[in-house]
Amino acid sequence: MIHHAQVQFVHPKTKEEVAQVLADAIAQGKTVSLRGGGNCYGDTPLNDGGLVLDMAAMDRVLSWDKSTGVAKVEPGVTIEKLWKTTIEDGYWPAVVPGTMKVTVGGACSLDIHGKNHFALGSFRDHILSLDLLTTSGDFLHCSREENAEVFSGVIGGCGLLGCLVEIEIKLKKVSSGQVEVEPIVVESFHHLVEEMERLAPESDYLVGWHDGFAADNKLGRGLIHRAKHPQVASSDFFDVKKQGLPSTLLGVVPRSWMWCGLWFFLNKPGMRFINYLKFLSGKRNERKGAHLQALAAFHFLLDYVPGWKKSYKPGGLIQFQSFVPKADAARVFGELVTLCQAKGMPPYLVVTKRHLETESLLPYAVDGFSQALDIRVTRSNHSRVTAMVREMEDIVFAARGRFYLAKDGIMTAESFRRYIDESHLVAFQTLKKRLDPASILESDLARRLGLN
Ligand SMILES: Cc1cc2nc3c(=O)[nH]c(=O)nc-3n(C[C@H](O)[C@H](O)[C@H](O)COP(=O)(O)OP(=O)(O)OC[C@H]3O[C@@H](n4cnc5c(N)ncnc54)[C@H](O)[C@@H]3O)c2cc1C
Repeated sequence: MIHHAQVQFVHPKTKEEVAQVLADAIAQGKTVSLRGGGNCYGDTPLNDGGLVLDMAAMDRVLSWDKSTGVAKVEPGVTIEKLWKTTIEDGYWPAVVPGTMKVTVGGACSLDIHGKNHFALGSFRDHILSLDLLTTSGDFLHCSREENAEVFSGVIGGCGLLGCLVEIEIKLKKVSSGQVEVEPIVVESFHHLVEEMERLAPESDYLVGWHDGFAADNKLGRGLIHRAKHPQVASSDFFDVKKQGLPSTLLGVVPRSWMWCGLWFFLNKPGMRFINYLKFLSGKRNERKGAHLQALAAFHFLLDYVPGWKKSYKPGGLIQFQSFVPKADAARVFGELVTLCQAKGMPPYLVVTKRHLETESLLPYAVDGFSQALDIRVTRSNHSRVTAMVREMEDIVFAARGRFYLAKDGIMTAESFRRYIDESHLVAFQTLKKRLDPASILESDLARRLGLN
């Protein structure tokens, strides 16, 4: 969230309008990038000096079948609109990210994961079919049976192979609109790995939070939130209104003002204090045991603070999310946090998850764990952050780890080639040449990493 670009926005409302924009772009020799909700942390939807097709206005739910749990949607439908359409029938999207503002098109294009990657896979595993508009004006219907190679490449293809115009997705039947959430204290990253491995077979969701300021023998201390769908079915919370995030904090402070409070604490002493308090309150909550929480409240924590990105201004933040095989994850995560602390740039937020290997032309997840570190970027520390990230990448690559393009903003083409398999890249570029021979679909990320 440190990127800027000069672009010309276009807001198509129909697939025919998208086709027209692409045809005009070819005629005028312009490049085009695709944008969903603009929630990625890096520059995948940006296209400096070119056009950006904002897909947000194509946001119709075309059909919803409550007997099968299958929805057909336009790409600009957000995860929020999707669950609000289906929850009253007892269905929830099988994979959701940490914000419900993400669009289904954006979720497909980066093949997002949720807190249940270890159990239900990534977004691709729940897509039944896609309709793709290529830059030559062809509409391709793609599924595991039809145009299977395109289907597989487009999911996770960073919006560079064609424009998704319709998506058919299978949702998950849930027993209740709430989950049972259990906080579990962990004393280190080794403890986290052990506990997540132990809990995974009996859990629907697992996510770790860690105190980014704790060092030495407290390094990695934190909490796992483990959630399960209740065994006893109840339709009480299938009511959309009961899923809503509260509009005020403590019944007083409007949610829209909360980012100002966050801004006040967004410095090293403030965040050290917040991390410490969160760990203490987690310990207390562990003693209280499991509690019920609405599905939306459990999944979309950051949506509690609308406009939270403003609190990082001026400047911004990068999220350094590495994916590391099981055997080395705890050691690597400890080394990364220690390095940030030693450089005087401790992570303000540290989140860990359990993953499985992802099948994709540009894969990111491995059978192991990920750690996401939020690092504040200011005008004065920008070059120091970049230099530190290069050192952090070395630690991750030495353990055969990978990165996630949805979160990346500063990797170089050289670093990218250190983890991406050459054969994957060639297969991606071959498919790109077939579907977009004039390379109309471009982005700042594609240029930075030499993807096209
Ligand atoms: C607070 C927060 C929490 C998050 N939590 C998670 C998480 O838990 N797990 C996770 O995996 N990610 C997470 N993310 C990242 C986010 O899910 C991804 O970056 C997602 O791709 C963003 O989707 P978007 O709709 O905002 O699309 P954008 O960010 O606008 O674009 C993302 C990509 O989709 C492409 N695209 C958009 N529309 C189309 C289309 N119609 N056809 C083809 N390509 C298209 C764009 O070109 C771009 O490459 C989080 C982000 C935030 C801000």
